[in-house]
Amino acid sequence: MSGSTTPTGEIDIVEVRVREIPMTLVRAFETARGHTAVRRVIIVEVVGGGGLSGWSECVAPDKAHYTSETVDTAWPLIVDGLALLAAHRPWASVEQLAAALSRAAPTAPMAVAAVEMAARDLDARRRGLPLATVLGGDKNEIDAGVVIGLHRSIDSLVEEAMDAAARGYRRIKLKIAPGADARPLAAVREAVGLDVPLAVDGNGSYRLEQAESLVALERHTPVMIEQPLPAHDFTGSTRLQLLLSTPICLDESIGSAADVVTMHRLDAGRIVNLKPGRVGGHTAALDVHRAAVARAVPVWCGGMLETGIGRAHNVALASLPGFSMPGDLSPSDRYWERDIVDPPWRMVDGALQVPLDRPGIGVEVDVELVESLVLRRIDVTREAGLPQP
Ligand code: MG
Repeated sequence: MSGSTTPTGEIDIVEVRVREIPMTLVRAFETARGHTAVRRVIIVEVVGGGGLSGWSECVAPDKAHYTSETVDTAWPLIVDGLALLAAHRPWASVEQLAAALSRAAPTAPMAVAAVEMAARDLDARRRGLPLATVLGGDKNEIDAGVVIGLHRSIDSLVEEAMDAAARGYRRIKLKIAPGADARPLAAVREAVGLDVPLAVDGNGSYRLEQAESLVALERHTPVMIEQPLPAHDFTGSTRLQLLLSTPICLDESIGSAADVVTMHRLDAGRIVNLKPGRVGGHTAALDVHRAAVARAVPVWCGGMLETGIGRAHNVALASLPGFSMPGDLSPSDRYWERDIVDPPWRMVDGALQVPLDRPGIGVEVDVELVESLVLRRIDVTREAGLPQP
């Protein structure tokens, strides 16, 4: 494998099928910012001139508990704007399409990503190449980490963490919130022992005035403290990093390569959690990755409760050389009774295999299952034309 990104070829999308489906989680998931039991997901299928399809999903959640984008803000942007834009003419490359999509919806990177990533899958499938190879991946497998949501009971939290450790995950991440941090982390550390890497994620729920409670977590040796402060608070994060010997990892703060530069210059964080579905797709993610690698900032790939489609995109991106830490990349059965892809994602010895023997994202979508779940569907065709300004 080359380890360098291959430019994409001409991309000719004649139809975009946008569906919303509900996916019921095996167990409800709670963070500092919200609770999810049923994941509403927008699935985007782009159809090329030859009838081949590329797939992606939009990572925007049901409620605005992560960033301001939600399923219901992304849906009209995609069906009334971005899908029409993608389909109205052939594009010289996915990069050119990505630039047009970002210009059309500069404040909606999740909606942009949904279309861009489907186009990436179509481009790779059309050329018979795995997406990981096109993106410049150089790994055969990705170390799997698990995320454990907030629990009301320490006992049930410890039980879930012990189960995750026994399954062989290479890193366990606990969601934390003010008042629900030191006790749960201490209990899990005691239960799993010193050898299991533990991380914590505050989802921006702390304020700098609460620095003491974050410093107090260090005695339980987390490998990183993810996004303790709100996304915009780079200078606060700098002050917090000064007080901590544990690296801060930024997630919600990182929307672009420029944010990596800012983070690094200010020492507002020392690790990046990169999600292609959050930053505007693979084109934008490659920029972020490049900026991080140039500054020797380690990167890993987070998750957004994706179906097997989004997971496939994350696995492809996480195969790039800068991804040097385990991602939030669990197998399908951690989240879903039945995933919508074939084969479902499996974990072997604490890792997910990169499907290098199959083109595109490397999994086939179970269209029949998706159709049986559909809540709403809109097909946007080239003939429909661009909306009048
Ligand atoms: Mg996070």
